[in-house]
Amino acid sequence: MKEKYILSLDQGTTSSRAIIFNHKGNVCAIAQKEIRQIFPTPGWVEHNPVEIWSSQLSTASEAIATLGIHVDEIAGISIANQRETTIIWSRKTGKPIYNAIVWQDHRTAEFCDELRMVGYDKIVKQKTGLELDAYFSATKISWILDNVAGARQSAENGELAFGTVDSWLIWNLTDGTAHMTDVSNASRTMLFNIHSLEWDDELLTLFNIPRQLLPEVKPNSHVFAHTAGRLISSRIPICGVIGDQQAAMFGQLCIKKGMVKNTYGTGCFLMANTGEKPTISNNRLITTIAWKINNKVTYALEGSVFAGGSVIQWLRDQLNIIKSTKQVEALAAKVDDNGGVYFVPAFSGLGAPHWNQHAKGLIYGLTRGTKQAHIARAALESIAFQSYDVIKAMEKDIGSKVNYIRADGGASSNSTLMQFQADILRTIVERPQILETTALGAAYMAGLAIGYWENTDELIRQWTIDRTFIPLMHEDKVSDLIENWHTAVKKA
Ligand code: ADP
Repeated sequence: MKEKYILSLDQGTTSSRAIIFNHKGNVCAIAQKEIRQIFPTPGWVEHNPVEIWSSQLSTASEAIATLGIHVDEIAGISIANQRETTIIWSRKTGKPIYNAIVWQDHRTAEFCDELRMVGYDKIVKQKTGLELDAYFSATKISWILDNVAGARQSAENGELAFGTVDSWLIWNLTDGTAHMTDVSNASRTMLFNIHSLEWDDELLTLFNIPRQLLPEVKPNSHVFAHTAGRLISSRIPICGVIGDQQAAMFGQLCIKKGMVKNTYGTGCFLMANTGEKPTISNNRLITTIAWKINNKVTYALEGSVFAGGSVIQWLRDQLNIIKSTKQVEALAAKVDDNGGVYFVPAFSGLGAPHWNQHAKGLIYGLTRGTKQAHIARAALESIAFQSYDVIKAMEKDIGSKVNYIRADGGASSNSTLMQFQADILRTIVERPQILETTALGAAYMAGLAIGYWENTDELIRQWTIDRTFIPLMHEDKVSDLIENWHTAVKKA
């Protein structure tokens, strides 16, 4: 029999990618296309939903052509997507009534402040596990209904559909016959009760959102629907759908309680598997659904660092002390340590566990002897220090020490950073060979649904380590570093 493949669509914030995996979980072809970032006014971020779809379709075709296979050789399609981004379209025409409002968009921040002021954040936290924030979909939906002429009435009449990016892609892949989402994406809307696993009437009333807008919610590893229509003539099952961070966690096979992954991308996204019961955080982390497979729900704690790898881009683009982000490692290696310099990259405030929108960035501890290399080193270390703060919050919530973390994302290729992370956390850091964990995690979901892969044991055997970083630094030195870091954070 001919080998079959899984086609994984990875619809991210900056680009759409299509990756084809084989049965060994290896990448066989990749295609990628950037998508336009639309900034209508400060604090607003939009994407064109039609471009999201067309870029995803063209990258899929390109990957299939690159590999030189026939569409029938695709056993299943998976979707991993940027989460929370909100799209509303007409059920009749399939046309969006407004641009996609991207997760980063803060236009509804004041509305969220008002709701928080009257104490609604407690209900939201208890039911959804989330902080009442403009980041999540609910207030973005209300905004569109209130600001697009006739939208609210059409929504009441059942003429409109809401979806996060996964739903939008499923709708288009099925030529408008399936309106669905999965539990991980639903759990980011601020409308989904993570305990009962249903859309929550009280929250729908609070945010003034008609239930008729909402998609059907499915488990992650499940045959959602089959591709259909003019553009895709073959009927291929869409059988794995999951939000990007949850996908990365599954791609890293963090499938046992207590396992933690950190994606070192533009920002850092940390997630801890907390098992079958939701752990509501006392340390300002988010509780979220990781996935649902075979009727079993797995929950996670999540914390995000806003400025991760972007600090290195800043060294390149604003300070001009490196030409490529890769060079930071060599520059930082010119000095033995940070020379007392600490860099708090609060370019857009500080994320978990500080959650301070007003914090401003600073470089602290400069002397006449400070060199470029010290600043490069401090920038690199800031990525690890910020991740350290999130892991410590996770440990408090979980009630035990995290013994190892699995790293992925662009900046995880930096071994100096990985070693420093292991040193200050006094924890093992594992870097896998395949860093495409987001697309892989979704592909795994799809493959498990159709028997392409038997079970998670088979997947665990595929996961291979590129390198393990073991803590080496002396304890006293670690304590000094952490103390100084926190002094700098306080000043920020
Ligand atoms: P995203 O998915 O968020 O776009 P990626 O996972 O592609 O991000 O990672 C890109 C980020 O990684 C950039 O911010 C870049 O500065 C950083 N990066 C890439 N290579 C290195 C390196 N060798 N050392 C440190 N940071 C790096």
